Amino acid sequence: SSFEELGISPQILKGIYELNFRKPSKIQEKALPLLLANPPTNMIAQSQSGTGKTAAFVITILSRLDFTKPQQPQALILAPARELARQIESVVHDVGKYVEDLTIQPAVPGAVERNSKVASMVVVGTPGTVMDLIKRRQFDVSNMKVLCLDEADNMLDQQGLGDQCLRVKNMIPRVQQVLLFSATFPDQVMGFARDFCPKANEIKL
Ligand code: AMP
Repeated sequence: SSFEELGISPQILKGIYELNFRKPSKIQEKALPLLLANPPTNMIAQSQSGTGKTAAFVITILSRLDFTKPQQPQALILAPARELARQIESVVHDVGKYVEDLTIQPAVPGAVERNSKVASMVVVGTPGTVMDLIKRRQFDVSNMKVLCLDEADNMLDQQGLGDQCLRVKNMIPRVQQVLLFSATFPDQVMGFARDFCPKANEIKL
């Protein structure tokens, strides 16, 4: 199959091709038709790193943004550590290179000043920082459409991080699509994952 057949917008396709992705990887081929379908549905996806999972959720997020609200956070990607958040942010930049008016910002420790607001469509952050920003009303989540957890096993498995992820999710009034991506979903995490991400399509590579 091809990226065109998936109905991905021309601007996103341009970014994808510039990255030399000629066709969807296996996980993308499996996940993207479900991820891009309307109405949006949740997904729990298990796939090793290096298989193209980041691009899968980034393409989905970019496809769901409302460009009439450029200052409104609409997609939140959570990662367990700031380095990974930075890497994801750079994939959003690359895939979204030709998406006009796209705004992206990090929400990791030190990235958002005390008096400023989170005012980008796509936010990539770590759970504790994101939680604090929402609590301090620096981060308005009332227009949030997509919540995505990368390395979900890592986060949901850890008492502190899992709790923060849940609190963030519970502060978002009506998220349309919750996505969990992870290399593994051990049994002890799966129960929590299903509570966190109800009625999800579950796919495994
Ligand atoms: P991941 O860690 O699962 O996000 O995989 C990332 C690696 O796969 C990166 O090196 C990407 O540039 C590459 N990649 C993602 N999608 C594709 C694709 N459709 N074709 C070729 N490489 C890809």
